[in-house]
Amino acid sequence: MSQKKLIAVITLALLLGLWTISGAAYAFTPKQGQLYEKEINGVKFHVYTSPIPAGASASVVIETEKSLILQDTQQNKPQNDELKALIASLGKPLQRIYVSHDHSHHWAGLEMFEGIPVYANQATIDVIKQKGEEELQGLKKKFGVEAIPYTKAVVPTHVVEAGSKEKVDGVLFVFTSPAPQLTGPVLFIEFPDQNVLIQHHLAYVGVHVPMPPVEARLAKLNEMKSTNYAWVIGGHGIPVPGTEYFSKTIDYFTTLGKVVKESPDAAAAKEKMTIAYPSYGGVFLLDMMLPGFYKK
Ligand SMILES: [Zn+2]
Ligand SMILES: [Zn+2]
Repeated sequence: MSQKKLIAVITLALLLGLWTISGAAYAFTPKQGQLYEKEINGVKFHVYTSPIPAGASASVVIETEKSLILQDTQQNKPQNDELKALIASLGKPLQRIYVSHDHSHHWAGLEMFEGIPVYANQATIDVIKQKGEEELQGLKKKFGVEAIPYTKAVVPTHVVEAGSKEKVDGVLFVFTSPAPQLTGPVLFIEFPDQNVLIQHHLAYVGVHVPMPPVEARLAKLNEMKSTNYAWVIGGHGIPVPGTEYFSKTIDYFTTLGKVVKESPDAAAAKEKMTIAYPSYGGVFLLDMMLPGFYKK
């Protein structure tokens, strides 16, 4: 090959390489989960959730001008494959991952995102370090090695605590935890310039997650409801505008409180809740969590 030809080939290869790295966005439609998208003030929020009957675990891809930031992975490989396909379709590099809290359905898939820096608060890091391997083994047993083929629990290496803020690619991220007594030590992310909140364990829309204590939760939701969020993204369920978020969650927990009071046992309460919210997914969570309301 002549030198000229060689240079031409190398240039072409470099150009092709650059093209793949910077990528070109193309349309993506998930086949298993759901995708909700909203663009606000220069930032696109892509919320991918596992199927609604399975609890609709949310992974949020935050698309800035030049890059992507992910909050939470999916648990099972097929959903992480879809999440990665979504990320690839956006044609920008994934620069970091935030893990909201220590529950394994939000971090189990980290191994599929090798090489991306992972951020979490110290409480989350400690639990994954101590119990991560055991958790993964449990998931493997429950869902099978095809769904959970991971070989290790990936421990986040970067600490981010509630009360801090950071500009990532020009976008302001504010890390909060406004109700740790209700949610545990989870990391919420607020975007003041977009008026968007990503929350976990406060209250969800579209899926049953009957979390105690009902009265204190209602008090917190009522206290927060004047906040005029453009979009509230939950760790599970369907993202909705703030007004809808507070009206629906206050309605849900008011009903839950009444139903538990009026039902003799968890089975009766489950029946009433499924009748009251026929479109809600995560019915298995009623089976898991309602008995807790009847323990002395
Ligand atoms: Zn959780
Ligand atoms: Zn969760």
